[in-house]
Amino acid sequence: MRRLVQALEARQTPDFESWETLVLQASRRGGAGVMGSLLTHWQRHAPREIIRCACGQRMISRGRRAKELLTTLGPVPLARSFYQCPECRQGRFPDDERLDMVHTRYSPGVRRLMARAGSQTQFAQAADDLLCYAGLSVDPREIERIAEDVGREVEQWLGEEQKLIRHQPGVIPIGSVDPLAKFYVSFDGTGVPVRKSELVGRRGKQADGSARTREAKLGCVFTQVKLDEEGYPQRDPDSTTYVGAIESSTLFGWRIYAEAVRRGLDHAQSVIVLTDGARYNRTIVQTHFPEAVHIVDLFHAYEHLATIAQILRGPDAKAPQPWRELLKAGEIVRLVRTAGKQLPASAHSRKLLLKELGYFEGNAQQMRYAEFRQKNYFVGSGVIEAGCRTVIGQRLKFSGMRWSVRGANAIIALRCCLLSDRFEDFWASRC
Ligand SMILES: [Zn+2]
Repeated sequence: MRRLVQALEARQTPDFESWETLVLQASRRGGAGVMGSLLTHWQRHAPREIIRCACGQRMISRGRRAKELLTTLGPVPLARSFYQCPECRQGRFPDDERLDMVHTRYSPGVRRLMARAGSQTQFAQAADDLLCYAGLSVDPREIERIAEDVGREVEQWLGEEQKLIRHQPGVIPIGSVDPLAKFYVSFDGTGVPVRKSELVGRRGKQADGSARTREAKLGCVFTQVKLDEEGYPQRDPDSTTYVGAIESSTLFGWRIYAEAVRRGLDHAQSVIVLTDGARYNRTIVQTHFPEAVHIVDLFHAYEHLATIAQILRGPDAKAPQPWRELLKAGEIVRLVRTAGKQLPASAHSRKLLLKELGYFEGNAQQMRYAEFRQKNYFVGSGVIEAGCRTVIGQRLKFSGMRWSVRGANAIIALRCCLLSDRFEDFWASRC
């Protein structure tokens, strides 16, 4: 501040940015002082309570221990009483518990910033961002630890919500749905690079049969009322919410089902499930969304058609136009008959071809594209594919990254929560 006063006295032209910085630093320091006094005042005047151990014994005060908190205003010292159980020697800091500061020196406000920053970008970058935006100097590894802790809390919060939806329906407030809206549920998988120890005994897609990634499953729910100028369905803005994790398809089925219920599945007039046609997709639809119209993504179907052409006519072959027309019209029986007219000579190619034809036969009901188009349904799973890039790819798939499943799941939970605009609800629920 002295430098500011000197500059004013010397009638110098202001360096406005440095003024801002200096005044901000001074306000923070002053604010941290106020915060320290508030805490001391609170401690001095808080009603004395009997502190008990988990074992039931009354705990005894063993004097005060100091720690330095990091708050959004900067470092604030705190001395708080330590209690110990005379029986089992367990210790507690009751003030830490009241302040939501157990086993941490970061205030709730700072932890919220660390979690948010760490969910958006790589931890080293997040540390730079926090220093630049909030004047907070924290180690990238601490951001990683806190972001993952908060992510696990999010996962726990969602888990409890899921349990209530499954076992005590009616307890959780359910979203309302515009009666005109079409209600979409969509899901897909995407690989997350993980540490070697997470891959033991797993077969992968590498040339030698090894794996480098584990599949994260991502699901989304969105609604659609309007059509665009060309008559194609248009997703309602801000209507998309996400859930996801590296987990079995059974657990994931419950996860996406709970999210759909929360969003108003039971009030929706028309429910559409969009998938890429992988086999586990059908199981999830049959188990959790038996009333829904199930649509297999048209573009994945085109890719399978191209594969058939390549099996029959070599690696550069494209699917003939008449096949594409049949697919677009949803004439799957005719398509299979046409494309399977000539079986290749080699047993291997024949096996591959039959597998591809099986994909179409198995999904024929989900490929009634002419009918779906006529009802103005989405027939492409572009929303969830973009979601895989936004939610997972942009944070978890940088080159050189190797996640633990536990760490990846924490960050996925955090990102789903933030991108579904539920983070503030989650944070409020902690209090
Ligand atoms: Zn005890």
